[in-house]
Amino acid sequence: MRRNAEEIVKMRKAGRVVAEMHQRIRERVRPGVTTRDLDKVGREVIERRGARSNFLGYHGFPAVICTSPNDMIVHGIPGKYRLQEGDIISIDCGAIVEGYHGDSAWTHPVGEIPEEARRLLAVTEQSLWKGLAAMREGNRLSDISHAVQEVAEAAGFSVVREYVGHGIGTAMHEEPQVPNWGPPGKGIKLRAGHVFAIEPMVNAGGPETRLLDDGWAVVTADGSLSAHFEHTIAITDDGPEVLTAVG
Ligand code: MG
Ligand code: MG
Repeated sequence: MRRNAEEIVKMRKAGRVVAEMHQRIRERVRPGVTTRDLDKVGREVIERRGARSNFLGYHGFPAVICTSPNDMIVHGIPGKYRLQEGDIISIDCGAIVEGYHGDSAWTHPVGEIPEEARRLLAVTEQSLWKGLAAMREGNRLSDISHAVQEVAEAAGFSVVREYVGHGIGTAMHEEPQVPNWGPPGKGIKLRAGHVFAIEPMVNAGGPETRLLDDGWAVVTADGSLSAHFEHTIAITDDGPEVLTAVG
């Protein structure tokens, strides 16, 4: 599905709300803060902006953000967990404005973090930017996937297979799926109007995952750290545009 200029305008509005959620939440990340506190910050932004949450109630999900510390990859439910010095915390946020969706994730350090964790965050974010750079008319879908995988694996890390990026528009998850691995040159031809959520999930150890008993939180099978960076990105005539950027 390709989006026209009017739809992109609405997606920018949704993206701005998501960016503001991240901005406010990031300001609150420090040792002692609970993940439920961070969810509250996200709710306040959604309310103030007159937006709706695309996370709350999604298959019964009970919060407006996902909070996934340390070896948790994605889909952590905010709760009593208190951030500790040296943690990393992945925050996934979304919002709906005028029927259009935004979706974005960032992993933050909590205070001072070990060098290996810093490197994991830097590499995962860089893999997202490499994926973005592949979002050009004439490229094919898996050029994005391949770009992400190359960056992550060149650094000695691994990419998660079971969870993937996606098309986004009037629903949070639309076709096509955008995996974070694979050979280049496969899949649909990229055109202006395509909007994808590109979201590398990179593990410091192996790629295997495990679902926790709450039926939501996904952790690394080997207990290694995991980072997650995501933006909603449109292909325009002038190249890729990040719709969920702060600013
Ligand atoms: Mg997300
Ligand atoms: Mg997503």
